[in-house]
Amino acid sequence: MTTLYNKIDLLPGVGEKRAAHYHKMGIDTAWDLLNHMPRTYLDFTQTVCIADAPIGEPCAIYGEVVEKLPEQRIRGGLTLYKVVLCDDEQALVLTFFNTPYTYRSMQVGQRYYVYGKVTGGMLRKEMSSPQVQADDGRAVLLLPIYPQTTGLTSAMMRTNVRSALQLLEDSMETLPPWVMEQYDLMTLCEAMRQIHFPKSQADMQRARRRLAFEELLKYQVGTTMLRARMQVKTAYAMQPNVSLDDFIAALPFALTGAQQRAIADIEKDLCGAVPMNRLLQGDVGSGKTVVAAAAIVYAVRNGCQSVLMAPTEILAQQHFHTLTAFLQSIGIQPVLLNGSLTAKEKRQIRSQIADGSAMVIVGTHAVIQKDTVFARLGLVITDEQHRFGVAQRRALAEKGGHPHKLVMSATPIPRTLALILYGDLDITVLDEAPKGRLPIRTYAVTGRKREDAYGFLRQHLDAGEQAYIVCAMIEESEQMELVQAAEQYAKELQTGAFAAYRVGLLHGRMKPQEKERIMRQMKAHEIDVLVCTTVVEVGVDVPNATIILIENAERFGMAQLHQLRGRVGRGTQQSHCILVTDSTNEESKDRLRELCRTTNGFEIAEADLKRRGPGDFFGSAQHGMPPMMQAALCNDMPLVKETQAAAGQLLEQDPDLRSSDCAALRLAILEMFAKNGENGLN
Ligand code: ADP
Ligand code: MG
Repeated sequence: MTTLYNKIDLLPGVGEKRAAHYHKMGIDTAWDLLNHMPRTYLDFTQTVCIADAPIGEPCAIYGEVVEKLPEQRIRGGLTLYKVVLCDDEQALVLTFFNTPYTYRSMQVGQRYYVYGKVTGGMLRKEMSSPQVQADDGRAVLLLPIYPQTTGLTSAMMRTNVRSALQLLEDSMETLPPWVMEQYDLMTLCEAMRQIHFPKSQADMQRARRRLAFEELLKYQVGTTMLRARMQVKTAYAMQPNVSLDDFIAALPFALTGAQQRAIADIEKDLCGAVPMNRLLQGDVGSGKTVVAAAAIVYAVRNGCQSVLMAPTEILAQQHFHTLTAFLQSIGIQPVLLNGSLTAKEKRQIRSQIADGSAMVIVGTHAVIQKDTVFARLGLVITDEQHRFGVAQRRALAEKGGHPHKLVMSATPIPRTLALILYGDLDITVLDEAPKGRLPIRTYAVTGRKREDAYGFLRQHLDAGEQAYIVCAMIEESEQMELVQAAEQYAKELQTGAFAAYRVGLLHGRMKPQEKERIMRQMKAHEIDVLVCTTVVEVGVDVPNATIILIENAERFGMAQLHQLRGRVGRGTQQSHCILVTDSTNEESKDRLRELCRTTNGFEIAEADLKRRGPGDFFGSAQHGMPPMMQAALCNDMPLVKETQAAAGQLLEQDPDLRSSDCAALRLAILEMFAKNGENGLN
């Protein structure tokens, strides 16, 4: 017998070919299929009269077929099939191209619901290739449309979902009964039925609420449990009487109040009996690196090794230089473990790490995590940019002795969201820019102003400043093309508008050494204008760069534009950001206007969250956030709060979820975190 958890190949109606398509989408079982939610629904419940049908917009119409016109062959082997549908007042001609199937099934005298775009004028209205349903008592008035995939249509998926729904058993339930009662939630089975084939908009909303509630609850209970698991004893509880005065005195600037507070938070954590688990959140340019450096000095002076892991080679390189500058004066020499070292060099550095002669280690996540043995690793710092995932945060946590962990994030996240997403961490926010910074001036212009913008750039280059020009990344698959476009663009600038200047090029397809070389040249002011793809986005720090011009700005999300803009405004000079766009789309113009209005990352984050949901902050759903949760986080904060309360209640009653009421929930949570590469919950 087929069950929900058998391979989807066994589901009636799923052949080998279709199964292969499903597997490609990560749908392996009928249960996975049920968890593949409709993207939207065609709403046949709100029908309009033909006379009132809006021209050019999709709508639903209800009427009776009064006539079927004979097939009409036209040029190119095209055949038209036409049906005349009437309501009380007017007629509508339905046209099907080359597809006789629906046409043949339709009968004169029968009533139908149709859905599509109406064209024509007052007198003669038409609808091409409509969705059609006979009013025979079996019509599905909210017709689910699934996310588009090659090889599978929504119609196919509907049929398969129907079979999968047959396999649901009413006894299946993840939530304890009292939770469902208290928060007025439908059962899991009901929610699954109603999310795929809702009887009404209201039922669909209730189903969404139930499913979002469950995802949020699982996530919050899971992170809280994780947090509890991390309350182990650390082998690296540090001494509270270590002074950083000499380190601070040697800095080329005075720390901001926010930096001082952050360092105090961290010192306190480092001296605690349980490992630190702290998120250091700060807008671009808020000065997180020096806070990390302070933590490192504190750890080293307590005889603990520290690692700083960066997401890219460029960033690792840069962190290494910055740390070296900060630490050398007080006699600490960091080492860099990166991908461009020879095997021999790597071996050498690894042996220094193993015998404890290297105390501060900088590198990428990948390089450090791969067979590095530490003598006494007490502090792990990750610079995680905007990545979402509990898993990465824990990768090194399993190293012996439970080291302290500090996560730095450059993505301003609205507080409510941060509390949920980083529920397993304490949070410190650097909410104060270093003194003497002038807010970056931002302008949005059309391509016609490009020459003027170049002129503006040249003025500043003549004054000894530097600039970035960013080309838009379109799609992963277009990477190659982007590189060519960037190369081409750089060449044009070098021979044209910027012939008198040194133009550099930096893109994602370059070897790490090459990237490093270019970045070094940029820092040393051997390059005036750096043409780049978004590789420059992450943390690159060249204080003398004062202008960034971003081509096709509409292709970037707000958070990303804000990050890019943060490449300038790092010194004391006035900086500028020029967003070039020829888009006429109101929504994207709106976003760019918002960026021109404010340089406060948290304000932008709030605006973006309201507008587009949290996707922009964490990448897409493939980064591990379930879709319902994503939806709720952006437009249903009351629900988020309810689930927070429920999670609290649940864990208070049953901290390990050991009762039989919670058994299913516990399993579901394990599964959710396993999908994120998580394995620490058992
Ligand atoms: P981010 O938070 O984006 O990682 P960085 O740590 O790269 O920021 O700091 C941005 C720039 O500001 C660096 O050039 C750094 O040296 C400088 N900086 C950091 N703190 C201060 C401060 N308190 N006063 C002046 N400049 C500072
Ligand atoms: Mg940084």
